[in-house]
Amino acid sequence: MARVAVIGAGVIGVSSAYLLARAGHDVTLIDAASEPGMGASAGNAAQLSWAYGDAMASPALLKHLPAIAMGRDPAFRIRWQLDRDFLCWGLKFLANTPFSSWWNNTQEILRLAEQSRHELVILLKETDIEFDYRVAGKLHLYADRQSFAAADSSVARKNALGFEQRLLTRVEAEDVEPALAAYQGEIAGAVYTPSDALGDAAGFCRQLTAWMIERRQVSVLFGRKVSTFVQTGSVLTGLRFEDRDELRVDAAIVAAGPEVRSFISDLPEARDIRPIRGYSLTVRRTGLAPSISLTDVKRKLAFAAIGDRFRVAGLADIERPGAGFDAGRFETLRLAASAVLPDLFERSDELMRWSGERPMTPTSMPIIAASRRIKGLYINAGHGMLGWTLALGSARRVVDFFQ
Ligand SMILES: Cc1cc2nc3c(=O)[nH]c(=O)nc-3n(C[C@H](O)[C@H](O)[C@H](O)COP(=O)(O)OP(=O)(O)OC[C@H]3O[C@@H](n4cnc5c(N)ncnc54)[C@H](O)[C@@H]3O)c2cc1C
Repeated sequence: MARVAVIGAGVIGVSSAYLLARAGHDVTLIDAASEPGMGASAGNAAQLSWAYGDAMASPALLKHLPAIAMGRDPAFRIRWQLDRDFLCWGLKFLANTPFSSWWNNTQEILRLAEQSRHELVILLKETDIEFDYRVAGKLHLYADRQSFAAADSSVARKNALGFEQRLLTRVEAEDVEPALAAYQGEIAGAVYTPSDALGDAAGFCRQLTAWMIERRQVSVLFGRKVSTFVQTGSVLTGLRFEDRDELRVDAAIVAAGPEVRSFISDLPEARDIRPIRGYSLTVRRTGLAPSISLTDVKRKLAFAAIGDRFRVAGLADIERPGAGFDAGRFETLRLAASAVLPDLFERSDELMRWSGERPMTPTSMPIIAASRRIKGLYINAGHGMLGWTLALGSARRVVDFFQ
């Protein structure tokens, strides 16, 4: 049994702590925030996209890149930075856009998602935690015939891998989700994935942490920021906090999401992770809200009914790390959501305005690895657009390092 510290209590850290404790390790879960799930996991789109998994670097995005670079797509914003890491990340991202790289990366992501789904089934049997989880199904909405026609081959590939996905006309999509009749956006067709699920990621972090504390499975240190590692030679022996206090451990998992970059000197693997900022708006759910998850492919908006709340999330802003909430960008999201579902986003009570950074790698695959520099140090970060979906599978791969 090892003494293991998990740094970061977002979906990745909490999932890692849970599976490490279940494997019999003595786990301390640490976060700089006062409670779990306050980082990128706090206001995400809630979708557990088991059958999506599409890597962001793709031939389609490459084609669209000139429009994005010229600021012609409101869903994206690039703030060019003259730093070496930014340029290297950009070049590696471009190198992953050819079809063969995209498809390899996507299949890797789908395998990890499948592992996550498997672990979630076990977790739901073992715990009684409530996080508004349900198998809601998902509809990807395509605005024009051309993009819908392109979805055809993607569905065929996913079907060949054993995922159930179907192409639907607008009328068929409205049979699946009657609330779509009020959707003001163009719908040339939809891809229906019945098995996709959703759940509140922040609720999962809070509930699972409380469940583990109650059963004395983990110790927690919240409101404590880790600043550096303590070593004897190249072997990890502990952590040092900002206040200079130390904690002795045999191993540490860095699950610090986008902030993993603050450990680059000890964990050069983190250089490949850059933040992509997104926004969300949560309103009170009314009877008009679609119950199935929706993704509007053209507008890059994801919608989810989470318990008594309804959320839209979107935008992908590549900018300097820690840039913060931009009221203008939030307004872009609010207007786009109001244009397609005005009854919900113009007339429902607003509950939360949020923005967070997706920790993104050029391949869209997370980095789950042992540090090249310090023995006993591991990284579990860089889950990008799909961290909630990939959390438990990634945690399983971390536990495998200790066997
Ligand atoms: C708009 C948006 C929509 C999204 N929608 C979805 C979706 O529908 N489905 C999906 O699967 N994924 C989605 N994602 C992606 C997903 O939310 C992220 O990939 C995931 O939350 C990353 O989790 P994490 O635990 O790595 O990071 P975080 O949740 O950010 O957790 C990292 C934690 O580490 C702590 N920390 C950092 N540094 C230190 C330190 N030095 N000491 C102590 N603690 C530290 C932070 O306080 C934080 O709590 C979305 C993301 C965004 C932004």
